[in-house]
Amino acid sequence: MEATLTFLGTGTSMGVPTLGCGCAVCTSAMDGTRPHNRRTRASVRLDYNGRTVLIDTGQDFHFQAIREKVTHVDAVLYTHGHADHVLGMDDLRPLSFANPIPLYADDETASVIERIFEYTFRTQDRYMTSARVEMHRISTEPGTTVKLFGAAFQRIPVQHGSQVITGWRFGRAAYLTDLSSLPEESFPLLEDLDILIVDALRRAPHPSHSNLENSIALVERIKPRRAFFTHISHDLDHDAINAELPPHILMSHDGMCLDFEIAAAKTTEGTE
Ligand SMILES: [Zn+2]
Ligand SMILES: [Zn+2]
Ligand SMILES: [Zn+2]
Repeated sequence: MEATLTFLGTGTSMGVPTLGCGCAVCTSAMDGTRPHNRRTRASVRLDYNGRTVLIDTGQDFHFQAIREKVTHVDAVLYTHGHADHVLGMDDLRPLSFANPIPLYADDETASVIERIFEYTFRTQDRYMTSARVEMHRISTEPGTTVKLFGAAFQRIPVQHGSQVITGWRFGRAAYLTDLSSLPEESFPLLEDLDILIVDALRRAPHPSHSNLENSIALVERIKPRRAFFTHISHDLDHDAINAELPPHILMSHDGMCLDFEIAAAKTTEGTE
């Protein structure tokens, strides 16, 4: 089944340009001389089978949805509960009134979303025009798969600082944002990929994100056909880094689209 992945955002948690920063990358993003350096908060949109599925809804979701003409959302899969991945959940409201939108998150992430948007999830005295969303807690046991609209989304454990968060594999593509390292058990789940999308924050090491050198090494070990870096800070200039990367690795940019094969869900029941 053919699918299209669109990068809604490719920036780190502070966004690029970073507020108060006058560096060359931020300046070029601000004045538009290097539009690919303008990076909103990281998330992706998947379109297949007439459906739209999002991975994460950061605080830039409203702007991104207008830019990419997102007119309906059928489900959202979450990676973890940091602000830059969940704060846009409330902007699902107008898209949810006709049909409730299912959200899939591990227990920790679900709890964060339910705490932040308490008025949405309360059963009594609920704010009338809250988002009509249904939280589905996913298991963090090995082999967790969510089946959505004929495709299977497999949970990939990802180390993000001291936390283990959720990466997603769907057919021949995988999205691993906010990654400092990959647990050994996750490597066999990432074989035969056409597309690997992975965190590459900056050049210098960081306690909870992968740096450029580490991300290149990760790509070389996983051996996808093509790899795309995301969750990028203002340390990396889009064109300059692309020029030094091997040909099968590219910097992603906001609005970039990739076509790939999304696996059909098997008939056996998975964990939801
Ligand atoms: Zn993040
Ligand atoms: Zn800057
Ligand atoms: Zn994070």
